[in-house]
Amino acid sequence: MRTLVKHFSSLRPARLALAAAVLVLALGLGVISPALSQPSIVVSMEFEYLRQGTAGVLKVSGPDLAGGVINVLDRSFPVFPVTDGFAAMIAVPIDQRIRKDYPMVLTLYRSDGSAVSYESTLRVESGEFIRESDFTLPSDRVYLLAPDIQANEDARLKAVYSVVTPNRFWEGQFKLPSNGALTSPFGSVRTYNDGSTRRHTGYDFQMTAGVPILSAASGRVVFARGMDIHGNIVIVDHGWGVFSSYSHMREMYVVPGQQVLQGEVLGESGNTGRSTGPHLHWEVAVNGIWVNPITFTGLRLPG
Ligand SMILES: [Zn+2]
Repeated sequence: MRTLVKHFSSLRPARLALAAAVLVLALGLGVISPALSQPSIVVSMEFEYLRQGTAGVLKVSGPDLAGGVINVLDRSFPVFPVTDGFAAMIAVPIDQRIRKDYPMVLTLYRSDGSAVSYESTLRVESGEFIRESDFTLPSDRVYLLAPDIQANEDARLKAVYSVVTPNRFWEGQFKLPSNGALTSPFGSVRTYNDGSTRRHTGYDFQMTAGVPILSAASGRVVFARGMDIHGNIVIVDHGWGVFSSYSHMREMYVVPGQQVLQGEVLGESGNTGRSTGPHLHWEVAVNGIWVNPITFTGLRLPG
């Protein structure tokens, strides 16, 4: 297993007393043991780069740390406490330009109120999205392709997805919400029968109507109602700025404020909203950014 990938450079220590801090960036679970000065701060990442529309985990440990924030891609990603330190999730938008060296700044706060910043870079690679060309909406639903309806719904969803709940309600990994066949991948560029194109912000499972839809992870329901495009949609807040949603349902069995467990039934599959037939549209968002739900199930967060 590769261990050391690159070093954060301690270019901007906020306090001279912390200038000797050592910050190391590592890939995977390799052991990092910089035999250098005290106090040491260790940062480990479980990725070498991130693809468009994916998320990654970054862990931080060191003495007297109280929290922190990562600034990258013109966004701020908070750092949360875990058993043996702190962790953060970084997410890359679906349309982020591919680049090897986006500036990334990690700012850490000490329990005494002091702060120190470190700089590194983030490499963004292609999401390898496909094109899909045969989306034929029934004539009575073509109006749902109107740009203002799309913009309004995107804004409402992003407002919900942008809330960051400091508590984390889930452990381990996300699970698939259904056993249905995967029919349309995340991020695809779709052409509809009116000639317009849309990005696919979730992953589609083909299934008949009435199939139970399961929560991918434990969390708290924050939204359960009908929308123009997503139809009947249930949104679950998992904490740490991570949300999952389940769309086009025929029936919804949960209400906002309700705590749900991983695998708990949220409703039944259906064909409501901008849909060409019964299916489940499953989304995952991190800090307001849509990410690939399938690759997200491969992420394992520290306890
Ligand atoms: Zn979909």
